[in-house]
Amino acid sequence: MSHWNRTARLDAADTRQIETWTLTAEDGARRNFEIDVKTGKPLDVMSLKNSSLADTREYADMLAARARKLYGSGLRLVEMTSCTCCGRPLTDAGECLRIFDVPYQRCTGCGHVMVTRRPAGEDLDFEESAEVSQTYVDPATCEVRLAQVIAPKMDWVDGVFAKLRGRKTTTVIDVGAGGGHFVEGARRAGATAAGFELSKASRAFAKAAFGLDLRSDDFLAANLEPVDVITMWGLLEYVQEPRRFLDKARAVLQKEAGMLVVEVPRFDALGTAAQAVNPFHVARHMDPTTHINCFSDASLATALVSSGFAPVAAWYFGMDAYELLVQCALRGGDEKALSATAEMIPALQSALDAARCCDDIIVAAVPV
Ligand SMILES: [Zn+2]
Repeated sequence: MSHWNRTARLDAADTRQIETWTLTAEDGARRNFEIDVKTGKPLDVMSLKNSSLADTREYADMLAARARKLYGSGLRLVEMTSCTCCGRPLTDAGECLRIFDVPYQRCTGCGHVMVTRRPAGEDLDFEESAEVSQTYVDPATCEVRLAQVIAPKMDWVDGVFAKLRGRKTTTVIDVGAGGGHFVEGARRAGATAAGFELSKASRAFAKAAFGLDLRSDDFLAANLEPVDVITMWGLLEYVQEPRRFLDKARAVLQKEAGMLVVEVPRFDALGTAAQAVNPFHVARHMDPTTHINCFSDASLATALVSSGFAPVAAWYFGMDAYELLVQCALRGGDEKALSATAEMIPALQSALDAARCCDDIIVAAVPV
């Protein structure tokens, strides 16, 4: 069985450092990848302070009902037999988490976490999931989101690309573009950007908010010219076969020219643990109604390398401290607990990010 090791400094006081990720193949052959690592991301504590506990509880109840519908007796569930990232048979995989009574299993080869008994592709209805997440594409919060979430990501992408290719990013394809925020952010940064989005509601939002015409066709089947950067922000956790998206990106991107950027949820995180012990109050992260995959650093790296990429940069951050405080407040039934403790979040989260115990990661990779 192949495996990954991380070589990092013990005195990791810096939020920027170089790590070596080493892949040792079954035959003992080793490949080293030098990774430009960033940890931590500024958080808008005021907006977290204002989130209502009642809304969170209501949203979690809605997801629980949806999980009963998706995984209940009504639908045919498909049983996976091998890991979607490393291909290892799941015969020795064990249950690692159960949310809304839906079990997640963990691959013993690469640590990838999956809902292995899942509805067939057509039953995981993204139109519906897009509608239930309308607050995510609320026009009123658009500019705030562009400034606080999108611009820092575009800056990071541009910085990694410039270091590799010696110039700014000029062309971008965003796959699973949602309400078009990143496409708009890339355009504002001077790039020509296009986006693929299957949800009609999200495409309508992108048109209304930014005048964007996102593509409704299937990225996997599209005939595409090479671009500088392909991005997949929070996409691979939704899809039945993440490798197909990576393979397609590899086919589009050119060696010595292109770069792929993927953001995925991380399993080995405090946020996961906080949800594991409160499995009926989940409103984000390990939500089996949409997130059928959750990654380990090794499973993401394995999938990238198997699709012909070499990872070059990683950014660790998350919402774990917020998640923990939300779960504590929900348990205590105390509406004020979250606003009273919200100021603690940035410091707590920064420590978790530095320790790579956070629930999110962005990795940049280049075609090899
Ligand atoms: Zn695996």
